[in-house]
Amino acid sequence: MRLPRLSRPLLLMILVPTLSGVLMLLLVLVAFKSAWDMVVKEQEREAEEIVELAASAIEELWVAPRRKAIEALADSPTLERRIEGQVPFDALAQEWRIAEELLQGYFFIYYGLRDGTIEHYPDGELPADFNPRERPWYEAGMSAESGPAWTSPYEEAITGELVVSTAAPLYQGGERVGVISTDIQFDGLKAILEGIELPTGGSVFLVDSAGRPFVGTDTSYIGQNRLPPSDAELFVTSSAPISNGWRTSVIVPRAYLAESFAELLQPLMIASALILLLGGGITSLLVARTASRAYRLAGYFQRTLEQDAPLQEIFRTRDEFSLLNARFNQVLDQARETGEQRLAQERAFRFLVEQAPVGFFRSNHQGELLYINSHCASLLGYTQDEAMRELTSVRQLYADGTERDRFLEDLLTHSEVRNRKMRFVKRSGDTLWISMTARLREDTEADEAGGFELEGFVIDVTGEVEERESLIQMAERDPLTGVGNRRAFDAVAETVADRAHTTGQQVALIVFDIDHFKAINDTYGHDTGDTLLRQIAELGKNRLRDGDLFARLGGDEFAVLLPGASEEAAAHLAERLRAGTEGIPLPGPVPEPPTLSIGIAVRAGTEVQVSELFKAADSAMYEAKRAGRNGWSTAGRRSPHQPAALPHTGSGGAAPGAPGGAGVQ
Ligand code: GH3
Ligand code: MG
Repeated sequence: MRLPRLSRPLLLMILVPTLSGVLMLLLVLVAFKSAWDMVVKEQEREAEEIVELAASAIEELWVAPRRKAIEALADSPTLERRIEGQVPFDALAQEWRIAEELLQGYFFIYYGLRDGTIEHYPDGELPADFNPRERPWYEAGMSAESGPAWTSPYEEAITGELVVSTAAPLYQGGERVGVISTDIQFDGLKAILEGIELPTGGSVFLVDSAGRPFVGTDTSYIGQNRLPPSDAELFVTSSAPISNGWRTSVIVPRAYLAESFAELLQPLMIASALILLLGGGITSLLVARTASRAYRLAGYFQRTLEQDAPLQEIFRTRDEFSLLNARFNQVLDQARETGEQRLAQERAFRFLVEQAPVGFFRSNHQGELLYINSHCASLLGYTQDEAMRELTSVRQLYADGTERDRFLEDLLTHSEVRNRKMRFVKRSGDTLWISMTARLREDTEADEAGGFELEGFVIDVTGEVEERESLIQMAERDPLTGVGNRRAFDAVAETVADRAHTTGQQVALIVFDIDHFKAINDTYGHDTGDTLLRQIAELGKNRLRDGDLFARLGGDEFAVLLPGASEEAAAHLAERLRAGTEGIPLPGPVPEPPTLSIGIAVRAGTEVQVSELFKAADSAMYEAKRAGRNGWSTAGRRSPHQPAALPHTGSGGAAPGAPGGAGVQ
């Protein structure tokens, strides 16, 4: 069985939660994306603030004081006098020590001149090949446009420590003659950066003018040429510039960003999960409830239909299912009621059929017996069981099998046949004449092979048929001799003639009359005459083939109809009749044998006309009489045939030239 299509509500029940689930997922994703964007933006803003804060802190706390200091050191009259050789280096060093104390983090203070002069504080051994003019601070100082300049971090010549220098040009007579510079350690810078409050996991850096980080809260990036790009695992803010060409930069790793995002997302996710759980839970509950009610109802239907269980209202609440339940109960109740009525009717009908003194049967067109009641079985000489077992085909019941074919043909044409008399054969072999009324079964349709079922009843009419047959027989028999009478002869002769017309068959007719019967009556008495009539009839009957008819036409006149017989065969029979009659003894003092005068006529096909044939045979008989009796003559022949020596006299004698003896040719 094909499953029915889903109903629209059921389809909606599935589609709506699915679509809303997908929609909700999309919403969550959109919310997630915008939340992420918000977090990033917030982080960017925060980072911007941090770098600006860092930049201004470095500027104010570190860069500006050192700029001022180097400007002050460059403008010192002591330095000027020292360059001109007017004071010892100690005087200058005295000044520089004070400056170093004021500004912590100075590593070295020194000046270098174009002529290669270099003096520094505190003291330290310079390398032998030290050339101040090749140092970064010298280049920076000499190329500074105005005011102090800053170098990028580089290795200090005496200790090898990484430092930066701030350098200012020195003038003599308006001409640049050298550079004063200070090496500065990063400790102070680092302290400032570490004082800045950072987001979790974030770090802040100072980047030189070439973009290289050289000091920061996270040492892992120091010494690298560049900070990692922002689209890597790190999130990098834009950096803020400082007046000396450096920049401050903040890095916040994505992992920490995600953490803060998760914090933000948590309530969102909890809310979504709650909504989904609630929506999904409610939908599932509804579907489960509907499914369970449908399942219970289906179970109930099955129980009541299959096990005939009592009808019930299985739901307490009122809804579509309880309505369905009620409607089903109503329909089943009605069906059960009508079913019981029908059952009662069927039982009554079966009882009637079983007990009726009428034979009832059902069979199919192949002759299979489907049902037979006990009366029908007993009519045929069986018990019901025997009939069902032994009658493998009802055809075996018909005395003439073709009769069933004709009966079925009529049944198919008219769908009912009434009171058809047919000869059946009982189990014992005896004849059973039945009258059958049958019809095609309405509830069985002819299948492709033309199969159908029929049912009907049969009545035993054997008694009637036999009685009627004997009546018919009586009407067509001569009561004295028991052979056919004139009426039978006429009827048969007409049928034989008709058949000859279509088949072209030859038909012979013999007509004969007892010679001098009146005299026999007169001589021996009427009873002897009657006896002779019976004896001649017996003679005739015994010499016939099947299909021949022997009849007494009236008085002492008989006829024999021989369909299909030749003239020779007819003559042969005539002779045997003649001779046979001659042999019948008559009582009395003069034993004179009785004789016959016989006429034969033979015709074929359409020439077989009863009256004409009869006339011809009759006149041939008179011909024989004329020729002297006790002989036979054939119509159309010139002379009749008689025995050469006639045992009886007074018959007119034998015709000359007639063959003697049997007269058979
Ligand atoms: P023919 O040789 O010319 O035939 O002479 P016939 O004496 O036989 O003449 P016909 O045939 O005319 O006579 C028939 C006689 O048969 C007349 C009648 O008395 C007699 N007859 C007719 N019916 C019966 C019958 O039922 N019983 C007896 N015993 N005689 C009958
Ligand atoms: Mg006669």
